[in-house]
Amino acid sequence: MAKDAEVRANTEKCKGCLTCEMICSLVKTGVANPARSRIRVSAQQPGQITIQNCDGCGICAKFCVFGALEVVQI
Ligand code: SF4
Ligand code: SF4
Repeated sequence: MAKDAEVRANTEKCKGCLTCEMICSLVKTGVANPARSRIRVSAQQPGQITIQNCDGCGICAKFCVFGALEVVQI
C-alpha cells in the first residue's frame, strides 16, 4: 500500500534532543535504538536531519516538543 503522508523537518527549530530517534526506533523496531530510527539527527549539527523509509505515522512529530517536525499529506 502506498503511503499517503510523510514527516518533514523544520530544521531551524530542531534542538538536537534526539527524542524523535528514540521514539521512531522504539515504535518501528521494538527497541529504543537511534541507529535503527527512520529519522536521524546529526549530533554535530542538530538541524541536519535525514529521513528514510518513513511511513508517515507521525509519532515522532507528536513527541517533538520543539515543533520541528510535521506530518504532511502527499
Ligand atoms: S526534530 Fe525534534 S525531537 Fe528530533 S532532535 Fe530535533 S528537536 Fe528533538
Ligand atoms: S513519521 Fe513515523 S516512521 Fe516516519 S520518522 Fe516519524 S516515527 Fe519514524
